[in-house]
This record gives sequence, C-alpha cells and structure tokens, in this order.
Amino acid sequence: MKLLEERIRKEGKALNETVLKVDSFINHQVDAEFMDALGRDFAEHFKDYGITKVFTIESSGIAPALMTAKHLDVPMVILKKQTSKILQGDVYQTNITSFTKGTSYELTLYKNYISPEDRILLIDDFLANGEAATGAGRLIGQAGATLAGIGILIEKSFQRGRKRLEDAGFYVYSQARIGRLAEGVIEFLPEDAPATE
Ligand code: 5GP
Repeated sequence: MKLLEERIRKEGKALNETVLKVDSFINHQVDAEFMDALGRDFAEHFKDYGITKVFTIESSGIAPALMTAKHLDVPMVILKKQTSKILQGDVYQTNITSFTKGTSYELTLYKNYISPEDRILLIDDFLANGEAATGAGRLIGQAGATLAGIGILIEKSFQRGRKRLEDAGFYVYSQARIGRLAEGVIEFLPEDAPATE
C-alpha cells in the first residue's frame, strides 16, 4: 500500500537490522486520519471474507483495528496481555513470547466475546516471528471459531512470521512488506513477493 510505504520512508527509523521505529504515527503518537485510511484499505481487502469480528492485541493494533471494524461494521475485540494465568474458567489463555521486549505474557480472551460461528479478522501493527498472531490463532481455535484472515500494517518479510502463518494455513495481507533493514536503510518488497524466510 503506497500510502503506508511513503509514510514509513518519511518517518520510519531503522534502528538496526531487525527493529523499525514508527513512533510518530503508529506506536506512540497516532495519526487518526491515517489510521482511518488503513482501516478502509483492510475493510476493502477483506470485504468478501464474511468477517464477524475484528480482533487485535493490545496496544498498538487497537487504532487500525478499530477503524477496520468501523468500515466493516462489526465489533472489535482487544486480546489482553496478562502477566499471570487467570484461574476461573471464563477465559481462554495462551502464552506468548514478545519479540520487542524479550518477555512473555498470557494472551487472554473472555469467552463472552467469541462464539464458534465467528469468522475473525486479526489486525496487528507488525509481523516479525509470528508469535503474537500464532497465539491469537490458538485462542480463536480454542473457542472453535475461525481465523479467516490476518491484516498486518508492517511485515518484516526477512523474519519468519509470514511463512509460519501461511504454513499453518492462515491468509496474510500486509499493507507494507519490508525486505531489508539496516541502520538508516529501509527496503520494501512488492505485495505479491514470496515469503523470504
Ligand atoms: P511477532 O509476534 O510477529 O514475533 O512480533 C510482532 C509484535 O512485536 C508486534 O505486535 C509488535 O508489537 C512487535 N514488533 C515486532 N517487530 C517490531 C518492530 O520492528 N518495531 C516495532 N515497533 N514493534 C515490533
């Protein structure tokens, strides 16, 4: 998606070979109009997938997920990152290792907000090793619902996330795909390029 690539070129900062900072419009300050445009693009892309709910993982996925849900006219659900297991039986939980922080958390979903008929679109800001998205897929599976598609703002195609998700049978659409990062260097891949990792 050209709009997102241009914005990353202008404001993104490659810290090293693996980490891209986009604090000025996604991760710290949020550009609402821009998020609305991204949400409209996801909604257009997934309009024929029979989506009943948009899921995201707190916190940076919330803004684009909300806009996507608005344009698809369905509810948005935030998967919570809890530090410990909740012992009552009213939640689904699964353990995730965070790429950026090197820590782990319990991804948590209250059973009230999902049912087996649901067809879920998962929206997240970054795809790296696919830990978060794979975990969300496990939770959705526990509920007997379907993960019908995954929408990512920025895919780092040199990491193994896309391949892992595709191998697990999930469909991934990324609005921007990065083929290489180095200090001060950001190189993009076309939308239809094969997974590199
Ligand atoms: P994964 O679960 O795919 O391994 O990592 C994805 C999660 O890690 C995203 O939800 C995002 O929060 C974070 N993340 C991964 N790589 C980057 C990055 O280069 N920059 C930023 N800002 N976050 C990242």
